[in-house]
Amino acid sequence: MDQRAATLALPETPRSFGFFVDGQTIEAGPRGHFERRSPGHDVPVTRMPKCTKADLDMAVAAARRAFEDGRWSRIPAVERADVLLRAAQILRRRTEEIAYWETLENGKPISQARAEVGGCAGMFEYAAGAARALHGDAFNNLGEGMFGVVTREPIGVVGLITPWNFPFLILCERVPYILAAGCTIVAKPSEVTSATTLLLAEVLAEAGLPAGCYNVVTGSGSTVGQAMTEHADIDMVSFTGSTAVGRRCVAAAAGNFKKLGLELGGKNPQIVFADADLEDAADGVAFGIGFNTGQCCVSGSRLIVERSVARDFEAMVAAKLAKAKVGDPLDPETQIGAITTTAQNDTILGYIANGKQEGARLVCGGDRLDFGRGQYIAPTLFGDVTGTMAIAREEIFGPVLAVMPFDTMEEAIAIANDTVYGLAASVWTKNIDKALTVSRRVRAGRFWVNTTLAGGPELPIGGFKQSGWGREAGIYGVEEYTQVKSVHIEIGRRQPWVG
Ligand code: NAD
Repeated sequence: MDQRAATLALPETPRSFGFFVDGQTIEAGPRGHFERRSPGHDVPVTRMPKCTKADLDMAVAAARRAFEDGRWSRIPAVERADVLLRAAQILRRRTEEIAYWETLENGKPISQARAEVGGCAGMFEYAAGAARALHGDAFNNLGEGMFGVVTREPIGVVGLITPWNFPFLILCERVPYILAAGCTIVAKPSEVTSATTLLLAEVLAEAGLPAGCYNVVTGSGSTVGQAMTEHADIDMVSFTGSTAVGRRCVAAAAGNFKKLGLELGGKNPQIVFADADLEDAADGVAFGIGFNTGQCCVSGSRLIVERSVARDFEAMVAAKLAKAKVGDPLDPETQIGAITTTAQNDTILGYIANGKQEGARLVCGGDRLDFGRGQYIAPTLFGDVTGTMAIAREEIFGPVLAVMPFDTMEEAIAIANDTVYGLAASVWTKNIDKALTVSRRVRAGRFWVNTTLAGGPELPIGGFKQSGWGREAGIYGVEEYTQVKSVHIEIGRRQPWVG
């Protein structure tokens, strides 16, 4: 059967999901549902249980039991790796289905969603190896009577709070690494994009993950999310979302001093020197702001370009953006889909109005696009942006690019660092000295040279400054979910204390 052709129609009725605790799907029943309308078509597509704090408690208790009895945390890493590898195979088999629900709830192009699910399978494969590679350290230099060993132990029960922009990718940049470390999980997806987090529960169960090791509680941030960050029986929370909510997580975590991983916002610079391959750079800069409708924490939303080429370069980027195909997310040709939420749509249009009001020069875009249904915004480029304007300082989380010219490398670095964020940055130049100097001096957790938004399972992700704490993915991403224990071992008898 041609799986792709069969899935490109809208569902006739919204699909109802249950939530997932201790290996069982639990229907919404009296809790009621959130109904999700597809942002690209404005039709109902999914219905999710409105879980309560009691549901969260039940899920945390299941995750705690599963952690403490060692069904996952104490088995040989090779057995954990087997489960993760099987999960990768199942993800590859179910790619089309997962991509379809991701596209319906999020509004991203189906071609992109398919590629993301493929990338997620790669995360599971990498984490399977990392589970086996994880190790401690030994000190054989402590003298005749002492041997020291440093071990890594799983941190325990992990709460996972994820946003709506990459519901499945962000989940899979965390889940396989957390499982590789031997922890158990309670996940709370965004209330508007929960489907694929629940589909992962089916995948992991089929792969042989024991019951209770991956639980999903759907619900709002203010109830389930807040309760998760406050929960006394959760050892660590990995939160991905806005800096404002991240700040609340820090306050809530103080109750039991749980460890926090925070992946927050960004206002990421794209620094373009006159000596760059400008055609390549223009394409990269357009991709950096157009991809996922600019709704990426790492979107390159500030174009810091050498003044001698600024006007020409701006026109090149505008031409690329005008050519990118915006439209129905289910159309395989679409490159830029819908804006995920109505609130976000309003926020982006508000920033565009603000940019015009503050005197920035509109080069292209600047308006909503009418396809008869759904919410779409044309990729927008503003010239003559100054460092004090809101569009230069605040995370817009939409397809809006602010152009800021520079004269010297020092000035480019200063503009790039003139932000409370430090998530990601790119430099475009053929001069190796400039590339290295800028990459050393710009304060960001991810840095790209002559490319942007590149990534994979091996390289860690995370931010400097107000973009967050800790790292996800890579071997670093497994280590984050471990505790370090020092073991001192006496050889022979101790020196007596009392003679
Ligand atoms: P958000 O902060 O509104 O929500 C994120 C998650 O937190 C959701 O699941 C939400 O239900 C939950 N939440 C809301 N209030 C909560 C509370 N009081 N306590 C606990 N949880 C709560 O963010 P969003 O609008 O879903 O996503 C957009 C933001 O996420 C942007 O700022 C973006 O930069 C950021 N983001 C960062 C990264 C990264 O890796 N750094 C990745 C993606 C998105």
